[in-house]
Amino acid sequence: MTLGPSAQQWAAAVAAVRSAGLDDEIQLICHVNPDGDALGSMLGFGLGLRRLGFTRVRATFPGDFVVPTPYQRLPGADLLVPEPDAFADPRLVMVFDVASESRLGALAGRLAAAPASVVLDHHASNTGFGGVRLVDPQAAATSVVADGLLSRLGVPLDPEIAECLYVALATDTGSFKFDMTTVSVHELAARLIATGIRPGEISRQIFDSKPFGAMKLTGEVLGRAVLEPAAAGGRGMVWTYATLADLERYGQPPYVLDTLIDPVRSVAEADVSVVVKQVAAGEWSVSLRSKGAVDVSGVAVSQGGGGHRLAAGFTGYGEPSDVVDTVRRLVDEHLN
Ligand code: 5GP
Ligand code: MN
Repeated sequence: MTLGPSAQQWAAAVAAVRSAGLDDEIQLICHVNPDGDALGSMLGFGLGLRRLGFTRVRATFPGDFVVPTPYQRLPGADLLVPEPDAFADPRLVMVFDVASESRLGALAGRLAAAPASVVLDHHASNTGFGGVRLVDPQAAATSVVADGLLSRLGVPLDPEIAECLYVALATDTGSFKFDMTTVSVHELAARLIATGIRPGEISRQIFDSKPFGAMKLTGEVLGRAVLEPAAAGGRGMVWTYATLADLERYGQPPYVLDTLIDPVRSVAEADVSVVVKQVAAGEWSVSLRSKGAVDVSGVAVSQGGGGHRLAAGFTGYGEPSDVVDTVRRLVDEHLN
């Protein structure tokens, strides 16, 4: 079993934050194409830094400055700046939900150069980069780690911080459905809800408000799904793909495909599910899920990606069928 942060690591993280002056530049960074946990844990923590009196806090992520619509109204969203506006030479860098430096793009240099840095993460595949490493593979979300550090810094939860951490927790646990949904997850959720936030309203905003075009696009992409009962050692694999042309036809941004894996993974006849999403000509972002037969993190890591045992991803190349051929072969090599 992989253990979470040690007492020394928690103390070092507290010391790193306290080593910054209240007017020093603090740069928060989360992973490329940020999801609810990346943004929620980063902005929730950023609000906590504000409560501590830090005046110069910015939050960013590498690549195009596209914040998925449901997250644009998160408390603390005003901390967000596009990558070019990140502090050039921050005193402290804090990184959220990033399994490997490659997910930081060009911002990895900012982390390496900073006098102090703290990495908050929960990926089993975390490669161990950065100054102080708060990596807890048992944590359901990076926001669990963020909550741990906020409480050690003496920042009480308030409704704004709680909304950010709740969104992060709810997205990464699949609305409290996944295996990682432990007693402590529900205890954290209870503490967050006790601040007065409204889980129903938040869930509607985050999960249940998609444009009509996104629904139609999802319908078309699900309609071309293929079931392969013999794959994954006979446990079955289901896959589909979506192209940039599909997105364009329905006028949708790429992030609407981020949740497409959820209906695909619900197929009873398949243990493994795969969604292959085009990001450029011949380049695909691949989402992998397993119900237990396969360590998909191993599959993803072998292709330069990462993730968790039952949820992982990597970048694939060629045609969708090439990517699926690779996955089919690797899945058989990573049967549990
Ligand atoms: P998703 O399929 O939802 O994009 O990602 C599932 C999990 O795999 C997440 O924990 C995500 O951080 C991780 N992941 C997805 N794509 C990549 C990738 O290209 N590299 C790494 N290191 N992790 C990835
Ligand atoms: Mn996460």
